[in-house]
Amino acid sequence: MTQHDAYENAAAKAPPSLDALADRVQGPVLRPGTEEYDREQNGFQQAFRNDPVAVVGATGPGDVRAAVEYAAAHGLPVALQATGHGLASVTERPLLVSTRRMTGVTVDPAARTARIEAGVRWEGVIEAAAPHGLAPLSGSAPNVGAISYLLGGGLGVLAREFGYAADHVRSVDLVTAEGRARHVTAESDPDLFWALRGAGANFGAVTAVEVDLVPVASVQGGGLHFDADLVPDVLRAFTTWSATLPDELTASVSVLEYPDIPPMPEPLRGKYAAHVRFAYTGDAATLERLLKPLRDVGPRLIDDVGEIPYTESGRIYADPPVPHAYFGSNVLLDRLDADALVAAAEAGGPGAPAGAVIDVRQLGGALRRRPEVPSAIGHRDAAYILRVLSALDERGADAVRPVHEAVYAAVADATVGRRVNFIYGDRTTTEQVRDAYEPADYRRLRELKRRYDPENLFRCTYNIPPAD
Ligand SMILES: Cc1cc2nc3c(=O)[nH]c(=O)nc-3n(C[C@H](O)[C@H](O)[C@H](O)COP(=O)(O)OP(=O)(O)OC[C@H]3O[C@@H](n4cnc5c(N)ncnc54)[C@H](O)[C@@H]3O)c2cc1C
Repeated sequence: MTQHDAYENAAAKAPPSLDALADRVQGPVLRPGTEEYDREQNGFQQAFRNDPVAVVGATGPGDVRAAVEYAAAHGLPVALQATGHGLASVTERPLLVSTRRMTGVTVDPAARTARIEAGVRWEGVIEAAAPHGLAPLSGSAPNVGAISYLLGGGLGVLAREFGYAADHVRSVDLVTAEGRARHVTAESDPDLFWALRGAGANFGAVTAVEVDLVPVASVQGGGLHFDADLVPDVLRAFTTWSATLPDELTASVSVLEYPDIPPMPEPLRGKYAAHVRFAYTGDAATLERLLKPLRDVGPRLIDDVGEIPYTESGRIYADPPVPHAYFGSNVLLDRLDADALVAAAEAGGPGAPAGAVIDVRQLGGALRRRPEVPSAIGHRDAAYILRVLSALDERGADAVRPVHEAVYAAVADATVGRRVNFIYGDRTTTEQVRDAYEPADYRRLRELKRRYDPENLFRCTYNIPPAD
């Protein structure tokens, strides 16, 4: 009997009895139709939900294991949720493991590492590391979940200096599809360790990760905002300027129409504007010199540059802190062409049928280097990543898709791939996921998927199916 037959038989013989599961776990098992169930599956992303048959509020690896075994026995897919930043459209009802109670962070200052449990947001690691003059390789928004970010690669505010966060993972604790708790390192399971760092959510329910911390207490950084009439000039200047930067400077530019609401700084309210953001680990005087070509473009609506403690690194990108509905994706570019970038911005700009945020981050530097211990992250030679993102209204994703397609079309000549972390709302698209990996790596990932999750239990993610 195959594992699949076993699941089918079990499902036929024993209809899911949540009481049996509840008896095995310490945390709550929440059922549809209750307020607790709704609260637990509510995430930062407001447009999508998992709509599970039940939610297991896991308190530790034992609960995660019981949930995975239960789902496998009853032929249910397993969905994982920490913060709900990555919620996406679903086509079937999973068993949801909510990790928000697993919030332990332990820092080892001598080893410069942190052990992070499954439900931890980056802000928890940043706070725990800061007293030791250390920082994690976190991203633009400190309220994003650390584990999923790491499993998908992890492009941080200091990315060009230190590389992908996933390449700084030392070990991964997870429960695999067969219900086995494993401690995975480069030495113990080289294949699985490779796959977990870049395509990780396909291979199990991760309960904790150990990562490197870097000796950064503060950065020189901030942002320059330019008004609508300067947007094309800023994009042109960013194209030439970014090509000259040292690896210690990680920069990006976004263009968007800012909402006309009080939380927005007054100079930006209701304005279409460009925002160049950067973090630099060198000294203030050098940064001032490096910024000159950008400031020469023209007057700034806001010019906010200075020393920022890493605990306030979220100020650099100033991502919206409140839950909302959004949709978007990204393309990796092998070069940035100024005309194409201006055309891309126009395609999503004020005249477009739906509003879009265009965000271009420079890659290169340490992101280009192959790590000592290889990982599944693909397209390392990409020079930039261009992201497109729209807030959704009642018209849903179909209203914004044509705008996004027009943006991607403008940079199609330079497009070489994608990053799974920045696929928002539409993770079930196999082609998008395949684009994230080198062809040979994608084949290897599928082989590993057949070995570690042949029934595709962990498919409620950027899925790599084991078979066609
Ligand atoms: C505002 C914002 C800013 C962002 N900034 C960056 C950035 O700077 N750099 C970057 O690289 N990414 C960034 N991201 C993308 C982010 O890394 C992904 O969306 C990530 O998946 C979010 O993880 P989460 O735990 O917060 O969300 P969740 O929705 O809770 O989880 C997302 C997915 O991760 C998987 N998952 C979660 N927990 C586990 C687990 N324990 N085991 C296995 N799989 C699990 C599941 O597939 C789940 O659907 C950003 C996203 C947003 C919305």
